[in-house]
Amino acid sequence: MKIRKEDTVLVVSGKDKGKKGKVRRVLPDENKVIVEGVAMMKRHTKAGRGKVKQGGIVDMEAAIDISKVMLICKRCDKPTRVGFHTVEDGKKVRFCHSCNEVIE
Ligand SMILES: [Zn+2]
Repeated sequence: MKIRKEDTVLVVSGKDKGKKGKVRRVLPDENKVIVEGVAMMKRHTKAGRGKVKQGGIVDMEAAIDISKVMLICKRCDKPTRVGFHTVEDGKKVRFCHSCNEVIE
């Protein structure tokens, strides 16, 4: 996956275009990501036992297509395409196409 949890990404299309946020979750099977503060939706919760005593509406992020986000490089602070290098031990590492910095 080009995008990983804890990455900062820029939304490049859809109604949240231009928003930046941190990736909360990556859903590889669906090619989707959940980004903090992006694609907010209301979800109705039911009252139940345990922690949730009151039912109600909570705001939460919907998953958005991974193609709608671009990684923001920590070094050059720009939205960038991600490339992959294979290093000596066969591991793949990501790198920034703008500044060539390896992204962990
Ligand atoms: Zn960079």
